[in-house]
Amino acid sequence: MVRANPDFAKQLNRIEKAGNLNYCYQCSACVQECPAALRFSDFNPREIVLCALLGVADELIGENSVIWQCATCYNCYERCPQKARPVEVITALKNLAFETGNAPEQITALRESVLNHGTITTLSDSMKKRRDELGVPAISLPEAGLLKKILGG
Ligand code: SF4
Ligand code: SF4
Repeated sequence: MVRANPDFAKQLNRIEKAGNLNYCYQCSACVQECPAALRFSDFNPREIVLCALLGVADELIGENSVIWQCATCYNCYERCPQKARPVEVITALKNLAFETGNAPEQITALRESVLNHGTITTLSDSMKKRRDELGVPAISLPEAGLLKKILGG
């Protein structure tokens, strides 16, 4: 059974950029050029905003939520006539999923890598050598753990 939390939209309203979801009048303009909606039949930014408004929190920020299919391309942000900012609502939902321990393992690993090493890519010696050969400047990464300290991660 789907459970609705009437306070969920209020919780999102307090998040600065996600707080316009009440303006959504379900026109679907955000769906038309959404690459994730074109690719995945179960992804729809209009429905996500509606579910957020209705407080279907367990579905949205639970394990295996559709929110992780969003490519954060901001097409919906540009197209929404109501400035409801679906992508910001989805980003806020992703952050709430992290807080409740429901983010996918791969995403959590990427986050840890950024916090610990300042990058999601490990630069191998051969990659460094190739960069030297091409005259590409060396990448300057923050000291290990510094971002984690600053961001409190
Ligand atoms: S979020 Fe904006 S574009 Fe999408 S359905 Fe609501 S009003 Fe329309
Ligand atoms: S930001 Fe996400 S929801 Fe918005 S158009 Fe891009 S993929 Fe779709």
